[in-house]
Amino acid sequence: MADIIQLLPDSVANQIAAGEVILRPASAVKELLENAIDAGATEINLIIKDAGKTLIHVADNGGGMSERDARMSFERHATSKIRQANDLFAIRTLGFRGEALASIAAIAQVEMKTRRHEDELGTLIEVEGSRVKNQVNCSCPAGTSVQVKNLFFNVPARRSFLKAESAEQKHIVDEFFRIALVYHEVRFSFHQNQKLLYQLQATVRKQRIIALFGSGYNERLVPVEHISGAISITGFIGKPEYARKTRGEQYFFVNGRYIRHPYLHHSIENAYRELIPVDSVPSYFIYIDTDPGTIDINIHPTKTEINFLDNKVIYAVIRSAVRQALGINNILDSIDFEVERSHDYLPPGDDRQVKNPFDTPPSAFNPFDHASDRRKLSAEPWLKAPVRGWESLYDNSDFKSIQPPKNDGMFSETEFPPASQESDRATVFQFQNRYLVSSIKSGLVVIDQQRAHERILFEQYLDRIQHHQQIIQQELFPFQVSFGSSDAELLEEIMEDLNILGFHLNKLGKNTFVVSGTPSGIKDADLQALLEDLLDQYKKNLVDLGLDKSTNLARSLAFSQSAKSGRRLYTEEMIHLIDELFSCKAPELTPGGLKVFAIIPVDQINQLLNR
Ligand code: ADP
Ligand code: MG
Repeated sequence: MADIIQLLPDSVANQIAAGEVILRPASAVKELLENAIDAGATEINLIIKDAGKTLIHVADNGGGMSERDARMSFERHATSKIRQANDLFAIRTLGFRGEALASIAAIAQVEMKTRRHEDELGTLIEVEGSRVKNQVNCSCPAGTSVQVKNLFFNVPARRSFLKAESAEQKHIVDEFFRIALVYHEVRFSFHQNQKLLYQLQATVRKQRIIALFGSGYNERLVPVEHISGAISITGFIGKPEYARKTRGEQYFFVNGRYIRHPYLHHSIENAYRELIPVDSVPSYFIYIDTDPGTIDINIHPTKTEINFLDNKVIYAVIRSAVRQALGINNILDSIDFEVERSHDYLPPGDDRQVKNPFDTPPSAFNPFDHASDRRKLSAEPWLKAPVRGWESLYDNSDFKSIQPPKNDGMFSETEFPPASQESDRATVFQFQNRYLVSSIKSGLVVIDQQRAHERILFEQYLDRIQHHQQIIQQELFPFQVSFGSSDAELLEEIMEDLNILGFHLNKLGKNTFVVSGTPSGIKDADLQALLEDLLDQYKKNLVDLGLDKSTNLARSLAFSQSAKSGRRLYTEEMIHLIDELFSCKAPELTPGGLKVFAIIPVDQINQLLNR
C-alpha cells in the first residue's frame, strides 16, 4: 500500500491555527492593536463595522514594514520579535509567536498598507484565505494600516457561532480597554459603525482611566505604589465605599500585558477584608513590572493567565501595597466598619419587638408598591397564596399544609400538634439571617430569602416590561449620573425599557444623564451605583448568556435589587415573601437556575433521631 501521510498545505495549516488564535472578532482586534503597539506607534485608530464581522481596521503611525517584511508578515511563525529560544525569557513585546497575521489572513480578506518612515513608497498587499491576491507599491502614510474584511468568510460554522452583535461588540471594547489602559501615552480613536466612541489623548495613567470609565472615577481612586528592586507595583485601587457587588473594573497588567490571575485577585480581596461587604469586589488597576525572566510568558495567545516564578511573594507584596495605599489615605481609619450583626439567636416570640436601625420597615421591602396592593398582608396570608403549577414538583399537599392548623381544618391534631397562641405567625422563622424555615406536612421547607426575592422581582419586572405597564415615582431633585462612553451608549440602548421599569432618565450630555424618577422603593438608593451595578450585570448576562433585552434587564435589576442575604426580616416580611414567591410562575429556581428552596423530609428527621 502506498504511503498516506502528507504535509498539509499552508492555507489549511493556517486555517487550523486560526481556529485557536482568532476565536471571535475581538481576538483579531487584540492582535492588530498589539502589533501597532509593538511597532512603536504613538497614534492608533480603530474602526469597527458590524461588531467586527464586516470590518476591523487598525491604522498606526509605527515603524512600518519594508516590502519584503510586508510579504513575510503573513507567513506562519514569521516574527521580528524573537530570534532564538532564549529570547522567550526576555520578552518585552506583546507578540512573539508570529501567528496572528497568518491566522487572520487565512480566514478573512485582508488589505495591508505599510510604509517605513525612511521609505518614499509603501507597499499594498491583499491576501484572501491565505492567498496573496495583489502586492504593489503604493503611496501611503508612514506606519501600517490593516483592514480585515468579512472575518470567517470561509469558515461559515465559526461565523454562525458568533454571539449577538452587542455581545461581540462588548468583547471588542474589552480588548480595546485592556490595551488603552496600559498605553496611556498613545493616542487612540475608536469608531464603531461610523460613530466616534472614544477619542483618547496622550495623558497620564489616571486620566486615561477616567477617559475610559467616566469622570466619576476621579474621586474614586487611590494610588498604589510599591517599588522594590526587581518588582514594581503601581496603579490605582478603588476606595472601599465604591466597591460593587458585580465584578466591575478589575485589571492586572504584567509588563504591559493584561492578565487574569485569580490568586492575585484574592490578595486584593484579602487586603480589603473588613472594609467592604463580603459580596462586593473592589475596583483595581494594578500594573506589575518585573524581570521577564521571572514570569512564564509562554502562554496560549488567547489565554490571559500567566505564572510568576514566585506567586507567593507577589501575593504578599500586592496585599501589603494595597493595604498601605488604603492606610495612607486614611481610609482605614475613617471607614465605618460594617459590624457583623448577629441575629442568630433572638428570644423566642420576641423578634418583632427587636428594633434594629439597619433594618428597613416592612413597607419598604418590595420596590414596587403594587405588589403589596395586590395582596395585602392579612392574618392568614397562607390561605390567600394562590397555588399554581409549581406544586406538582412536590407532594401535592405540601404547601397547602403551610397553613396554620386552626385555619385549614385539613389536618388532624396529631398530624399538626396544637401550637401556642402566638404560633400562627411563628410557622415561619429566619435562620442565619438568610434562610426562611417553615414546617409543611412532609417536613421542613428551607427558603433562600435572597434567591426568593430575586425570583419575585424578576417576574414582576419582566411582566412590567412585556406589558408596558409604566410606573414612575418622580424624584424631587433630579440627579445627575455619568458613565464611560460604552456604558453610556448601552444605557441609552436600554433607556426605554428602564423607563417602563420606573427609571425616568434623560440624556444630558454625551455621557451624562439626568434621573428624575425611580421606581418607588429604591428612591433613596445611590443612583450612580445602582445603575452601574445594573449595567455591569446586564453586560455580564449579555456576554455569558446572550439573553434578549427584556429578560436581561429584568434579570439584572432583580439581581441587583434582591434583598441581600444577611438582612433580618420581620415576620410580616417573611410571610409576604413566601406568599409572593409561591404566586410566581416558577418559584423553584432563580432566573439564573439556582434552587430557591429545599425540603427536608420528615423521614430524614426521623432517621436522624432514630425514630
Ligand atoms: P508577532 O506579532 O507575534 O510577531 P504577527 O503575525 O502579529 O506576529 O506579526 C508578524 C510580524 O509582522 C511582526 O513580528 C512584525 O514584524 C510585523 N508587523 C505586524 N504588524 C505590524 C505593524 N502594525 N507595524 C509594523 N510591523 C508589523
Ligand atoms: Mg502580533
